[in-house]
Amino acid sequence: PTLRPEPMDDEQGGLDRALRPQMLDDFIGQAEARSNLRVFIASARQRAEAMDHTLFHGPPGLGKTTLAQIMARELGVGFRMTSGPVLAKAGDLAAILTNLERNDVLFIDEIHRMNAAVEEVLYPAMEDFELDLVIGEGPAARTVRIELQPFTLVGATTRLGLLTTPLRDRFGIPTRLNFYTIQELETIVAGNARKLGVKIEGDGALEIARRARGTPRIAGRLLRRVVDFAVVEGGGVVSRALADSSLTRLGVDAKGLDGADRRYLTLIAESYLGGPVGIETLSAALSESRDALEEVVEPYLLQQGLIQRTPRGRMLTQSAWQHLGLNPPRTQEP
Ligand code: ADP
Repeated sequence: PTLRPEPMDDEQGGLDRALRPQMLDDFIGQAEARSNLRVFIASARQRAEAMDHTLFHGPPGLGKTTLAQIMARELGVGFRMTSGPVLAKAGDLAAILTNLERNDVLFIDEIHRMNAAVEEVLYPAMEDFELDLVIGEGPAARTVRIELQPFTLVGATTRLGLLTTPLRDRFGIPTRLNFYTIQELETIVAGNARKLGVKIEGDGALEIARRARGTPRIAGRLLRRVVDFAVVEGGGVVSRALADSSLTRLGVDAKGLDGADRRYLTLIAESYLGGPVGIETLSAALSESRDALEEVVEPYLLQQGLIQRTPRGRMLTQSAWQHLGLNPPRTQEP
C-alpha cells in the first residue's frame, strides 16, 4: 500500500479541476517545455494542421495531463483522453481513433502499459492517419484501410525506458518534465490558496512548497490538509508555524519525505548497512511493488541525492544517513 497519489486519486475531483491551470500562461515552471510548446502550438495553428505527436515523460503529478489539456485548448481543438491499461483490444483504440475530429488531441496516459496488439494499430495511425482493420477470419480475412482525420497523439509515461523503440520514435516532440523548484511550488501554492479563498500569512506557502517533494500534485494535497488544520485550529489562517506543525503531524518531514520514503531509507540503513541492495529485495521487504518504488519513491530520493543507483543495487548517501540521524557503519565504502 502506497501513500502516494496515483493520477486519478486527487481528492475532491471538482475542486482539483478548478485549480488546474487552463492556459500556457497560467502554467508555472517547466520553462523549457513551455517555451517550446508555445512555438509548436503557434506553428500548428498558423498552418491549420495537427500539431506533431508529443510525449511527456517524468514522475507522477508534474503536470503531464494538465499540459495535454492546455495544448488542446490553445490549439482550439477537441480533447479525448484514455490510458494504456484501459485499451484492452485493438478495436477499443480503433473506435476512439475513428471518432476523432480534425486536428483533435488524443491523450493516452500510461502509454507504456499499452499491449502490443493495440500498439500495432497506433503505428499507421500516427504515421499516415490510417487504420488497417482485419475483417473476417481465416482464408476469407482481408484488410481494409480506413482514413482517419489528422490528430495529435499526446502520450504520457512515468517510465520512458519501458516504451518500445518504434513507439518512441514516432513522437516528434519528446518532452521531459522535471521536479519543480521550491520557488515555483511556492507560486503554485499561493495561487491555489487564492483560488480557494484561503488566507496565507508570511512564509506559509513557502513551508508547504518546501515539503511538496518537487511535485504540484503533492503541493495541492498538502495545502488542502493544512487548510483543514487552519480552519479548525488556526482561525482559518495558514501561517508558517501552522503549516509546519500540521505537516509534521501528517508525517511529512522537513525535507518533504513521508512515511513511505523514510521506511525505504530506514530499511536500507538498518537491514542492509546502507546497501547496496537490489530493488527486488527492497520491494519484497517493504511489500511495495517494484514499479511503485521505481516510479514514485525513488525519483525524488535520487534527485535529492539521498540514494544512489549502482549496478549492485541501491545505496544510501552520506546525506541520507544525516537526514535519518544515524551513523553509517565504518566499513561502508564512500
Ligand atoms: P500528471 O499527469 O503528470 O500525473 P497532472 O497534470 O494530473 O500530473 O497534475 C497533477 C496536479 O498538479 C493537478 O491538480 C494540476 O492542477 C497540478 N499542477 C500540475 N502542474 C501544475 C503547474 N505547473 N501549475 C499549477 N498546478 C499544476
